[in-house]
Amino acid sequence: MQFVNPWFLVISVFMMIAFVGITVWTKRNERTTKILRPVFLISLLILITGIVTSNSAVRSTVDERLKANLGSARLMAAELQNHFQAQTIGMEQESAKKASKEIFERWLKANPEVTGVKAIRKTPDGKFQTIVLSGNNESIDSLLSRGSVFGKAWEGTEVTMMPNRQNGEVFSAIPLLNADRSIHSILLLTFSDPQWTAVIARAQSLVVIMTAVLVFVALFGGLAVAELIHALAIARVARAEMLLQGDQIKEQMELIAEKNQTMAANQDLLAQANARLHALATMDGLTGLMNHRTLMEFLSTSMKRNSVVGSPSSVILLDIDNFKQLNDQYGHLAGDEALRAIGQVLRQSCPPGAAVGRYGGEEFMMVLPGGSESAAVAVAEELRRRIQATPTTSRQVTTSIGVSTVYSMSKSEQTLIGEADSALYYSKRNGKNRVTHYGHGLLDTASA
Ligand code: GH3
Ligand code: MG
Ligand code: MG
Repeated sequence: MQFVNPWFLVISVFMMIAFVGITVWTKRNERTTKILRPVFLISLLILITGIVTSNSAVRSTVDERLKANLGSARLMAAELQNHFQAQTIGMEQESAKKASKEIFERWLKANPEVTGVKAIRKTPDGKFQTIVLSGNNESIDSLLSRGSVFGKAWEGTEVTMMPNRQNGEVFSAIPLLNADRSIHSILLLTFSDPQWTAVIARAQSLVVIMTAVLVFVALFGGLAVAELIHALAIARVARAEMLLQGDQIKEQMELIAEKNQTMAANQDLLAQANARLHALATMDGLTGLMNHRTLMEFLSTSMKRNSVVGSPSSVILLDIDNFKQLNDQYGHLAGDEALRAIGQVLRQSCPPGAAVGRYGGEEFMMVLPGGSESAAVAVAEELRRRIQATPTTSRQVTTSIGVSTVYSMSKSEQTLIGEADSALYYSKRNGKNRVTHYGHGLLDTASA
């Protein structure tokens, strides 16, 4: 784990868990969330960063080791340099070679990671010539046989290289200088680290794992996102359909409401028209009282009903006195106004259960179901009195009244009306503005 930043691991694990959690939640709830895509992208980004950093971590560790090796090589080179400069002799001499070999062997013993050491120089025709060597130099020899390796070392630069990652062999080259600072030869050191291979393999396996995770996340995330987009599309279509249906239903409802309104209005109009029609059919146009026909129907039914229970019925017939004269004197409009005024008095004076209407011309009739003779006479008298007291635009108006009563099925409506008419005639003949009941000995008078 030394190649990877622990924070990177923590964050990437957290992101993975979050990503998986959100995906599962999204699927289970059958809904989508905007956070999934950014989380997926960030997870990918962190993993990529991890792989890049782990690679660069491997590289920097390698660099450190190479530098350490170069340090060892530099120390050895310094020792050799000191030795030769103190002796002021060249390495070609046998004694110098021997001394150098001693130093080499001591180094090999003291530094187990150093497996081979060699000092070479270039012949005037450009070939490598070995001056001194110790330990295992197979790898460096094969390297040298391939041509101008460590070319930079011949220019005076210290060089380290790692040609083989598998066996972990590293080579360092240090230029050895003459007293005049010119390059005398090159010191080559071979390092072999048994741990090196394991370290490299571990770093590599980590990169492999990271890549596997990355591929997994990419596949899993890609599938999840694809499914999500699909689900989103379906949801959008369903929603659009629902909205459309909703709109259609709303439209239909509005149409129905409109139709209902029109129907209600039409019903109102119809009811109004019916009411008007009913009024026209049953009412007198001038006074607003019952018309002749309705009045006759009322008389007929109430007479039948009352005769069954054995209670009386009375009829009051009124005729305006000298009405022709009023018309002649004040005009027909004044006559109409007087008729309306009398109509209003009659309506207001009509007892409950009774009915009043215009019999014809300037004649009115009141039907009193259950009305006895005395009651009917009293009502008639009251009517006469009220009419006389009613102000009109022209002059005072009086009425002559005839009343008749029936106590059983003994009389027809026509007879009853005829009797009332006779009584009325009697009132006219006897000074007008008075009430006469047919039963009061009138029969003789009427027939007389
Ligand atoms: P009497 O006292 O004997 O009843 O005399 P009268 O003048 O009232 O009787 P008559 O039958 O001679 O005249 C009735 C008059 O009523 C005749 C007619 O012009 C008038 N009349 C009938 N209907 C109407 C009406 O609707 N409007 C007006 N202004 N006059 C009417
Ligand atoms: Mg008349
Ligand atoms: Mg009259």
